[in-house]
Amino acid sequence: MKGGSFERIALIGVGLIGSSIALAARRAGLADCVVGSARTAATVETALRLGIIDEGFSSAAEAARGSDLVVLCAPVGVCGAIVEHINAAGAFREGAILTDVGSVKAAIVADVAPHVPNGVHFVPGHPIAGTEQSGPEAGFAELFDNRWCILTPPANCDDAAVGRLQSFWEGLGSHVELMTPEHHDLVLAITSHVPHLIAFNIVNTAENLERVTDREVIKYSAGGFRDFTRIAASDPTMWRDVFLNNKEAVLEMLGRFSEDLTAMQRAIRFGDGETLYRLFSEARELRRGIVEAGQDTDAPDFGRRGRTMDGDGDE
Ligand code: NAP
Repeated sequence: MKGGSFERIALIGVGLIGSSIALAARRAGLADCVVGSARTAATVETALRLGIIDEGFSSAAEAARGSDLVVLCAPVGVCGAIVEHINAAGAFREGAILTDVGSVKAAIVADVAPHVPNGVHFVPGHPIAGTEQSGPEAGFAELFDNRWCILTPPANCDDAAVGRLQSFWEGLGSHVELMTPEHHDLVLAITSHVPHLIAFNIVNTAENLERVTDREVIKYSAGGFRDFTRIAASDPTMWRDVFLNNKEAVLEMLGRFSEDLTAMQRAIRFGDGETLYRLFSEARELRRGIVEAGQDTDAPDFGRRGRTMDGDGDE
């Protein structure tokens, strides 16, 4: 068996992320068998029909039973209850690795860890890759290529389990970094959560304008607005759970954001072109850094042509 491979992988949730893991694991030959469960029978049926999973279950416990890797790919807010259910059914295999892909880490650790039995290694994770689409049809094998995956193992975690999961993610195409859940939540608040909040907000502001019609907003959207609408199309359940579960870090980053926005507002009010030019130049430099790091291209049609260019829908 190659490093990072498993006999039976159970995906609890087979939406965008779960189905992409299944497809990328098959591409790399990392699983003898991939099984899955979802909230609804319709999703399980679709995943089976598309050949994403070999077997489908209505119960997360039955999917997890006998699996040496269990990956929670459901919204952040339900992960604790899912693991409680699997454990109550006695379905965890001795020595199995339990991980997740949730966009928030400290809250998931608090919800999940109390239900993880001895002999099961819980290694939380978060792939920084995604799109604004949902469901099994949205998954694709290349989603994690050249993207980062953050693992947040607890201090007493089994090193071999962490190493095995790291090899698994590398096999899916990712680079892996380890950090604490708290640090993860702070970093993601500014790189993903606040940008999504701004996108949701600006789209709603445009919608609420009385003197500019919806038709005009859509017609002239190429002026910049459409780039916000792409991430504002992300799944409402997922994002509700992210904000409910990363409250402190998001509020901290929003506070800083508001201060910086006020500085720009002031510069506009007082005709301070020098400050505006400096702030915009600094922002442009950061964008160059992202392109140089291979996390995006500088193609002028960014975000409109290929799905592989998308960031962490969250992500
Ligand atoms: P998605 O496409 O909406 O899929 C969610 C899946 O979870 C669906 O299969 C859904 O089943 C299932 N589910 C919901 N409640 C469940 C429950 N109680 N028990 C079992 N399954 C349940 O969402 P996604 O984008 O893959 O996101 C999944 C996770 O990945 C989230 O925690 C999110 O934070 C994280 N993440 C997302 C992105 C992104 O860009 N989207 C990136 C990185 C990480 P039904 O279809 O039957 O409802």
